[in-house]
Amino acid sequence: MKRVVLLGSTGSIGTSTVKVAEDLPERVRLVGLAAGSNADLLIEQALRHRPQAVCIHDPAKAAAVRAALPESIRVLHGPEGLIELATLADADIVLVAIVGTGGLHPALAAIRARKDIAVASKEILVMAGEMVMGEASRHGVRVLAVDSEHSAIFQCLDGKPPESVRNLWLTASGGPFRRTPAEEFPHITVEKALKHPSWVMGRKITIDSATLFNKGLEMIEARWLFNIGMDRVQVVVHPQSIVHSMVEFVDGSILAQLSTPDMCLPIQYALTYPDRARNDRVQTHFARLGTLTFEEPDPIRFPALTLARQAGERGGTLPAVLNAANEVAVDAFCNRRLSFTGITATVAETMRRHTHLPHPTFEQILEADAWARQTAATLIPPHGHSG
Ligand code: NDP
Repeated sequence: MKRVVLLGSTGSIGTSTVKVAEDLPERVRLVGLAAGSNADLLIEQALRHRPQAVCIHDPAKAAAVRAALPESIRVLHGPEGLIELATLADADIVLVAIVGTGGLHPALAAIRARKDIAVASKEILVMAGEMVMGEASRHGVRVLAVDSEHSAIFQCLDGKPPESVRNLWLTASGGPFRRTPAEEFPHITVEKALKHPSWVMGRKITIDSATLFNKGLEMIEARWLFNIGMDRVQVVVHPQSIVHSMVEFVDGSILAQLSTPDMCLPIQYALTYPDRARNDRVQTHFARLGTLTFEEPDPIRFPALTLARQAGERGGTLPAVLNAANEVAVDAFCNRRLSFTGITATVAETMRRHTHLPHPTFEQILEADAWARQTAATLIPPHGHSG
C-alpha cells in the first residue's frame, strides 16, 4: 500500500490520479490532497477518500472547506500549508501535479523529509533539475516520472546506466499544427491551439504542445531525470501517440513503450513502482490502429525545440528563464494579448537579454525566474495584437 500526497488534485493529472486510487484501493491510499482554488471538487474528493489533511491555496476558501469536512480531516491553506502537506509524516510518496513553478518548494521539502516524489510538473526539473536530483540522491529518495514520455524512458531503461545509452528518443504528437503552413501561424487562435489531437490536458500544457515548448521542456526534464547530456536527447514526431518514447542503446538496439494514450497508465506505474498492478483500463488494439508513423520535427515552424536545446545545453539559469518567459507568453496568448508566433519570439528575446549564471543557487534560480517574468511582460504589447 502506497500512502500518497497529491498536490494539484483538482487538475487534469490530479483527477486521473484520483481515478488510479479508485481503481487500486488495495495499493494506493490518498492521505493528502492539495488544490489551488477549486474548493468544491477538493471537498468532494476529500469526502470520498478521507485523507488526513487537505490544503487549499486560496485562503479565502479555507473556511468553506473546513465547514464542509469532518473534523478528522485537517484543513491547511497557502504556501505554508502546502509544505506541511508535502512533508506529512505518514506519506510514502508525494505526486506533484501543480501547474507552473508552484510545485518546486513543496517538491524540495518532500525530498528533504525523505519522501519519494512523482513529478508531473516538469517545470520543477526544468528550473532546478540539478538541485532536485542532487537533493534526492543526498536524501536517498526516488524521483519518479509521471510524464508519459519519461515514464516510457524509465521503463525502457530499466536501471541501465547512462553509458549504455546512445540516444533517448522523445516522441511528440506534433500538436494540432503539424500540417499548418508557416504563413498561417501568426493567425492561429486560442480556440484552435486548445484542440490537442490525442491528449486532453490542462490549458497551459495544451498550448505548450501546440508550440512544441512542451517537448522542449521535456528534453530538459529528460536530461536531468536520466543524467544524459542534451546531445543525446532527441525528438521525433509520432502523430498517433502510441509509442510514448524510446531508448536507443549503444549496441543499436531500441526499446519502446507503447499503449493507447491514457495518463492513468504512467501515473499508476509511478505509484506502484517497482510493481505492475493489474488494471484493465488501458487496452491497445494494434490491428485497429493500423499504421504508426514517424517524422522529423520542423525547426522553422517550431523554434521552441531549438530554444529549449540551447537552454538545456547552457544550463545554469537559462532553462528557468525559458520556462518563466514561456509561462508569461502563454498567459498573454490565452488573453489575446500576444499572437501564437509571439510566444516563441517573446521567449527568444527574453533569453537573449539574460545574463547567464552557470551554477546558480536556489535563490539565484528564483531571481532569474522573476527577472524573466518581468522582462517577458515588458515585451508583450499592452493592448493586444493584430494577428
Ligand atoms: P491543470 O491546469 O489541469 O491543473 C493544475 C492543478 O494545479 C490544479 O489542481 C490546480 O488547482 C492546482 N494548483 C494551481 N496552483 C496551485 C497552488 N498554488 N497550490 C496547490 N494547487 C495548485 O494542469 P495539468 O494537470 O494538465 O498539469 C499539471 C502539471 O503536470 C503541469 O506541470 C503539466 O506540465 C504536467 N503534465 C500534465 C500532463 C497532462 O496530461 N495533463 C502530462 C504530463 C505532465 P485548482 O484547479 O483547484 O485551481
